[in-house]
Amino acid sequence: MQQIYTLLSSGMDAPFAFIVCISVFAFIFGCCIGSFLNVCIWRIPRGESIVSPPSRCPKCGHWITAWENIPIISWLALKGKCSSCKEPISPRYIIIEAITGILYLLLFWSFFFGHRVFLPGYFVLLPLLICCAMNDCELGIIPDEYTYFGIIAGLLCAFLDPYAKLTAFLYALFSVMVTGGVMALFAMLGKMIFKREALGWGDVKYLAMVSAFTGIPGVLFTILAGSLAGLLFHPLVNRLKGRKSRTLRFGPYLAAGTLIWMFAGSFLLRMYWQFCSGSGKG
Ligand SMILES: [Zn+2]
Repeated sequence: MQQIYTLLSSGMDAPFAFIVCISVFAFIFGCCIGSFLNVCIWRIPRGESIVSPPSRCPKCGHWITAWENIPIISWLALKGKCSSCKEPISPRYIIIEAITGILYLLLFWSFFFGHRVFLPGYFVLLPLLICCAMNDCELGIIPDEYTYFGIIAGLLCAFLDPYAKLTAFLYALFSVMVTGGVMALFAMLGKMIFKREALGWGDVKYLAMVSAFTGIPGVLFTILAGSLAGLLFHPLVNRLKGRKSRTLRFGPYLAAGTLIWMFAGSFLLRMYWQFCSGSGKG
């Protein structure tokens, strides 16, 4: 394990061909994960199994063959149409596959060139963010399957910390308990004061899940960035879709906040400390 950390933090010193190979692998791996996420996004909120039956065309029931299931390539080869009934297949499938591939590549690069501690947990958190954001955006729910799995996975990933396994686990556990407790209190108080749901339970569990991977600073940033993004973009989204008022679906905005933290969290923290120490001296 120690060799992997040394290799992944050696970034610029690695041969160019090695970087290209491993970058291509990271992108293809991400696209394959994206293909699986398409299945999860459709089936999990509907209570269906993600293992069986195999995927089929929702219009004619045609079973999707292996060659029709290759991420990105199959959708392009079929020109976005079912091979049997020729009905259009939503471009959402190729978009999710491409976005997941690009995000995995960026995540890999951010560790490889950023000389940061390799955090395996982020490779687990990334697909969960995409699923939570998509299901909340489309259906207004964040299924417990993602958040409960994420909390357990986040706690277990703490043991992969190369330097302080037990401390990392205890810190992750502490973060989950504090975040879950405080957010649950906010949700209950919000409901008492406003007589309607101010913060959904799905959002509470989502934030507890994020804290298992990022700790308290990551959750605070997620709430701040997510709230700002919601305030800025929610009226814009309503206007684009021609709606007057609609309950804010917080999930996609929170996921965007978490994503920024994953890629730029340590940089933002450094900037914050520099700002604080600078203003302290002044
Ligand atoms: Zn069809």
